[in-house]
Amino acid sequence: MQILRPTPTCSRFSTIELPCAKCGLQMRLVLIEPTTGRLEQRTYFCAACEFGESFLLAI
Ligand SMILES: [Zn+2]
Repeated sequence: MQILRPTPTCSRFSTIELPCAKCGLQMRLVLIEPTTGRLEQRTYFCAACEFGESFLLAI
Protein backbone atom coordinates (compact mmCIF):
# COMPACT_ATOMS: atom_id res chain seq x y z
CA MET A 1 0.00 0.00 0.00
CA GLN A 2 3.03 2.26 -0.17
CA ILE A 3 2.14 3.52 -3.64
CA LEU A 4 -0.80 5.48 -2.26
CA ARG A 5 0.13 9.11 -1.80
CA PRO A 6 -2.62 11.43 -0.55
CA THR A 7 -2.60 14.94 -1.96
CA PRO A 8 -4.15 17.95 -0.19
CA THR A 9 -6.04 19.07 -3.29
CA CYS A 10 -8.07 15.87 -3.24
CA SER A 11 -10.00 17.12 -0.25
CA ARG A 12 -11.90 19.52 -2.52
CA PHE A 13 -13.32 16.60 -4.44
CA SER A 14 -15.57 15.08 -1.81
CA THR A 15 -18.76 14.01 -3.48
CA ILE A 16 -18.52 10.60 -1.87
CA GLU A 17 -17.49 10.24 1.74
CA LEU A 18 -16.67 6.79 2.98
CA PRO A 19 -16.27 5.54 6.52
CA CYS A 20 -13.36 3.22 7.08
CA ALA A 21 -14.39 -0.43 7.29
CA LYS A 22 -11.88 -1.01 10.07
CA CYS A 23 -11.87 2.01 12.35
CA GLY A 24 -14.93 3.97 11.20
CA LEU A 25 -13.08 7.21 10.52
CA GLN A 26 -13.61 9.05 7.27
CA MET A 27 -11.49 7.76 4.43
CA ARG A 28 -9.78 10.04 1.97
CA LEU A 29 -10.18 9.80 -1.79
CA VAL A 30 -6.62 9.46 -3.02
CA LEU A 31 -6.82 8.20 -6.57
CA ILE A 32 -9.17 8.26 -9.56
CA GLU A 33 -8.21 6.07 -12.48
CA PRO A 34 -10.12 5.65 -15.75
CA THR A 35 -10.86 2.07 -16.71
CA THR A 36 -12.42 0.36 -19.70
CA GLY A 37 -15.95 1.39 -20.52
CA ARG A 38 -17.74 4.06 -18.57
CA LEU A 39 -16.17 3.24 -15.28
CA GLU A 40 -13.56 4.87 -13.14
CA GLN A 41 -11.73 3.33 -10.25
CA ARG A 42 -11.64 5.36 -7.07
CA THR A 43 -9.22 4.48 -4.34
CA TYR A 44 -9.86 5.54 -0.78
CA PHE A 45 -7.31 5.42 1.98
CA CYS A 46 -7.62 5.67 5.74
CA ALA A 47 -4.74 7.58 7.28
CA ALA A 48 -5.55 6.32 10.76
CA CYS A 49 -5.11 2.58 10.20
CA GLU A 50 -3.63 2.59 6.67
CA PHE A 51 -6.53 0.65 5.23
CA GLY A 52 -7.18 1.13 1.53
CA GLU A 53 -10.17 0.28 -0.61
CA SER A 54 -10.94 0.63 -4.31
CA PHE A 55 -14.31 0.98 -5.96
CA LEU A 56 -15.55 1.05 -9.52
CA LEU A 57 -17.92 3.88 -10.25
CA ALA A 58 -20.06 4.49 -13.33
CA ILE A 59 -19.45 7.89 -14.89
ZN1 LIG B 1 -9.30 3.21 9.35
